[in-house]
Amino acid sequence: MKDIILKIENLKVSFQTDLGLVEAVRGVDFEIEEGEAMALVGESGCGKSVTAQSVLKLHPSPPAGIDEGHIILQGKDIVNMPEYEMKKIRGKIVSMIFQDPMTSLDPTMIIGKQIGEVLSLHKGMGKKAAFNKAKDLLSQVRIANAEKRAGQYPVEFSGGMRQRAMIGMAIAGEPKLLIADEPTTALDVTIQAQIIDLLRAIQRESNMAILMITHDLGVAASIAQKVAVMYAGKIVETAGANELFHDPRHPYTWGLMNSIPQKNQDKTRDLSIIKGKPPLLIDVPKGCSFASRCKYCMRICRKEDPVTFEISDSHKCACWLLHPEAPKAEP
Ligand code: SF4
Repeated sequence: MKDIILKIENLKVSFQTDLGLVEAVRGVDFEIEEGEAMALVGESGCGKSVTAQSVLKLHPSPPAGIDEGHIILQGKDIVNMPEYEMKKIRGKIVSMIFQDPMTSLDPTMIIGKQIGEVLSLHKGMGKKAAFNKAKDLLSQVRIANAEKRAGQYPVEFSGGMRQRAMIGMAIAGEPKLLIADEPTTALDVTIQAQIIDLLRAIQRESNMAILMITHDLGVAASIAQKVAVMYAGKIVETAGANELFHDPRHPYTWGLMNSIPQKNQDKTRDLSIIKGKPPLLIDVPKGCSFASRCKYCMRICRKEDPVTFEISDSHKCACWLLHPEAPKAEP
């Protein structure tokens, strides 16, 4: 059995705002094994990025606060870990890449030096050795002419190359877990496929676990062995990727799958959409938070939060339709 790199238990994260308390994450549980790729999927604002950023404690506190739960990294709960210890974790045990690499890259410093700084910090390398190793890393992330590119500034890189450089920087400390927060959203489809391919290759070669945050089930399918679907601050369905794509059970997952464009789709017909909007997390309604958008909604759905039903050892779904006395429903 493989070691668990990250285990999240009943995580609740909220933000204090002028309008009141926003319950961004409302009791999330999942775990990621060594070398495993997991995707956390859902619409914008569902809490997936907040969950991921909590692993590195990137939210300023206040206004953010972890209200409850545990984030167990390599067997150690980091929820109350002081900042000076978190600094040793970031980049070394867990790294993160974002949608827009420009927010993480320093525009005033050449790329090789930026990657070199990570190597000096986490590997204790001298400046020259770190710069040389940075060139190797640029080659590893498939940047042509790494020798020359290492001496250039981020502005001289294309969007795809900046994301590759960011990945190079993220893997420089040889982390056990890479969190990728919508890393391909700003890229065109060809570059998107190349970045996913690169991440898969790195995962295979280095046995690094990946937590992919995405709104795109297609991206999740192309990289993840396990998928968790998140809605309004909670995970509503989780399963092995094959199981989820072949036998989804939650109406929200059905809606997400129906909104993926198909190869032979009639181009004159509109894409299917999930009507309505997610609830405001400042005022979450009683019962199932998907109720107002769900065409299968029953009376109990408006009264009580659905319990989580186990479909198999690896497949769980929080929906009242799975209750033995519920009517049959088809996607
Ligand atoms: Fe729809 Fe009810 Fe299931 Fe919620 S619990 S997704 S409202 S059927």
